[in-house]
Amino acid sequence: MPNISKAINKDRLVKTTQELIRIPSITGNEGTLAQYIINDLENYGFSTKQDEVGNVIVEFGTGKKSLILNAHMDTVPPEGYTTDPYSGIVKGGKIYGLGASDCKTGLASILEIAKTIPQPSGKLILTFNVAEEGALRGEKYQKGCMYIAKRYKADACIVLEPTMYGDTVKISAGCRGRTVVELNVEGKSTHSSRPETGLNPIDEALKVMNSLKSQTLNSQQYFSTVLHETLSVVSINAGAGANNIIPSSCKMVIDYRTLPNIKDAQKTVRRLIDATKVKTKFNSLFSSPGYVLPEDSEVLKTLSSHVERSFNRQPEVSVALGRADASYFYENGTPAIIYGPGENMQCHKPNEYANVSSLIKCTESILNFTHEFLS
Ligand SMILES: [Zn+2]
Repeated sequence: MPNISKAINKDRLVKTTQELIRIPSITGNEGTLAQYIINDLENYGFSTKQDEVGNVIVEFGTGKKSLILNAHMDTVPPEGYTTDPYSGIVKGGKIYGLGASDCKTGLASILEIAKTIPQPSGKLILTFNVAEEGALRGEKYQKGCMYIAKRYKADACIVLEPTMYGDTVKISAGCRGRTVVELNVEGKSTHSSRPETGLNPIDEALKVMNSLKSQTLNSQQYFSTVLHETLSVVSINAGAGANNIIPSSCKMVIDYRTLPNIKDAQKTVRRLIDATKVKTKFNSLFSSPGYVLPEDSEVLKTLSSHVERSFNRQPEVSVALGRADASYFYENGTPAIIYGPGENMQCHKPNEYANVSSLIKCTESILNFTHEFLS
């Protein structure tokens, strides 16, 4: 295994991360950041493409094997910050700012790999997507990554979402699925001094909640961890605008996190609701199945060996609890792994940071992996 990571320019890698953090890119406003990425790559001689929703794509090299490196450009809005969310300041080995971990170090890694890698003997596809944290409005698909995953297929894909946990390095070889449904629980409105003449939909919603809570959901071991399904009521809304009226309906939103490869999650929720005999209208808001790669998959084994070499310790392989864009690549036939330089526990937290040493080691490992995978 050749080690080409010496070619990495660490100062340039950190400086690029700082510059990316200093450009705000909350979902829906990724344009300026996309232009920065386009300019940066074109300065190094790459030709770039931008699709109809604003995703940036670069393809280079030819050959039998192909690899996609992907990271998202958008961030959540800053919340609870006591420092400047766009400072990009480096202090005590940490780099600070909104998106430092999620996912600007990931973007910076890909840019550094592009500048450093010798002409690959396979095809390397770099993709930077919009709308991971939030949804696209008025477009065919809700997520920027769906446009990329349908059009660009490869032998493997690494999605550089944050998988560092301090000294522990993780690789997610899959993710749980997610299904979100809205329930309109029906009741019968009446004066609250005579509740027995109506049907209180809040009481009915409680029956649904209690029934959902008492369900035993699926669990299964993947790699060395047992993974559980979870079902949560994430929103409940009722009220007739006056305190002396029993309302006519109550809206609930249910978030169901499924084991990988569960395709009928909506049916499961519907079955659980039907069993309560409560009268409801059922509306599906979102559904994306999870997936898991086989333990002996080539991409997983090769990447793990490079991670071990760069960090001097073995990575923990598991299935991500959250839904990830990687699932879109998998659905479209590209085996995808989630592995990136950011600190996972820093995502969406005030005064977010990433560790500079993890940024450098992770970039080294992906560079070496890319070089070997495409040779
Ligand atoms: Zn992210």
